[in-house]
Amino acid sequence: MIVEKESQESQPRDWGMAYFWPAEYLPKLLPESIAGRLREAQVNPWESAKDVETMAVVNVKTGGTIREDPSPGGGRVGRRALRKLMSEQIEVKKATCSQGYPSLHPQTVRAECEGRHSLDANLLIGADDGKSFSRATPLPFKMLNFNAKYPDDPYKARYIRDNLRPFADHGIHPMGVCFFKCLKGVRDPGDPRTWSFQVMITYPPKFPVPDCVQEKSREQNYAHDIIKILHTYIAPHCAEPRRSALLWLWEEHTVIPKDTLQICSPKQWDNRSGRVTLVGDAAHAVSFYRGQSFNDCIRGAVSLVDQIVKIVNTVPEHRDKAREEHIGQYIGQYDAEVFDRARGGGGGGEEVKLSAE
Ligand SMILES: Cc1cc2nc3c(=O)[nH]c(=O)nc-3n(C[C@H](O)[C@H](O)[C@H](O)COP(=O)(O)OP(=O)(O)OC[C@H]3O[C@@H](n4cnc5c(N)ncnc54)[C@H](O)[C@@H]3O)c2cc1C
Repeated sequence: MIVEKESQESQPRDWGMAYFWPAEYLPKLLPESIAGRLREAQVNPWESAKDVETMAVVNVKTGGTIREDPSPGGGRVGRRALRKLMSEQIEVKKATCSQGYPSLHPQTVRAECEGRHSLDANLLIGADDGKSFSRATPLPFKMLNFNAKYPDDPYKARYIRDNLRPFADHGIHPMGVCFFKCLKGVRDPGDPRTWSFQVMITYPPKFPVPDCVQEKSREQNYAHDIIKILHTYIAPHCAEPRRSALLWLWEEHTVIPKDTLQICSPKQWDNRSGRVTLVGDAAHAVSFYRGQSFNDCIRGAVSLVDQIVKIVNTVPEHRDKAREEHIGQYIGQYDAEVFDRARGGGGGGEEVKLSAE
């Protein structure tokens, strides 16, 4: 069972996530009936991904290519569409879990939830993202993350799509701005007015953009203020198609929520004899600059499933101290692996730190 604090419909944020190297694991994690329908969650379900997609980094000021990296097995899925597809055969309860440590009981572990009194489980897996106040470290950048549509004129969306690098177009501007723009959803491939684009812009605090949203809530729509700012400070410094993509933004059709850019450095957690663990961004939130976090989530989920399968297949059901120790060992192996990967394993890259840099 999954406990989720927000309903699909109430989430104002949605974005595309590129995955590469762990693509081969997805069929292992999903029932056949869902794995066979992954295409439905692609940002453009009408076009098959190429065997080798290309990640491009471009100069936002000139439009020139800085580098291109081949990405075999790459696909780009919409976060909301993927969650909808994956939750089809799973019970999802709407509630907010307390972020305090769950309590241990003789047979179970118990999490306290608002909206439901408590939740008892054999294994509690924290997947509550990297925004936990106890773990997250804000990065010194402002962030905008929203979807843009151009419903007034079919020419506009087609022009933008045709002039962006098709799979991933990471833009960097010498004035310290990152500007990622990519196709995010295609309802009708023949009608560009139904297409949406993902826009992610980060800029340093010293940049002359007034922070009109500093004190306001995360859920409000700031399109009115932000579009003015984008038109004044960013669009004039961008090459095409980004310049037009910003100038054509239409306040009535754009929702821009407040966002923050954070990472979550891996800290070893107490797995309470194998009853509690963490997956995904909760274990290691990498900033989106590296485009790796969802990939790490998939890899981590495979490792956790492997350990659970070992528990089911090898640990006798009879509840005694030996069983508890075995479970603790297996989940402990998973914890160590995830922790090691986030830290870069074997003295390597340190995923979280690299993404912050
Ligand atoms: C703009 C952007 C672009 C990105 N692009 C890429 C990319 O191209 N490639 C890539 O690999 N990664 C990318 N990422 C990272 C990727 O989105 C994350 O790694 C991934 O979504 C993490 O999944 P998760 O399930 O761990 O956390 P989330 O997707 O954040 O889900 C956590 C869920 O937990 C719920 N929750 C939180 N607290 C509680 C609570 N107390 N009780 C109940 N529910 C709770 C939240 O409502 C949320 O639904 C991007 C991230 C962003 C922000």
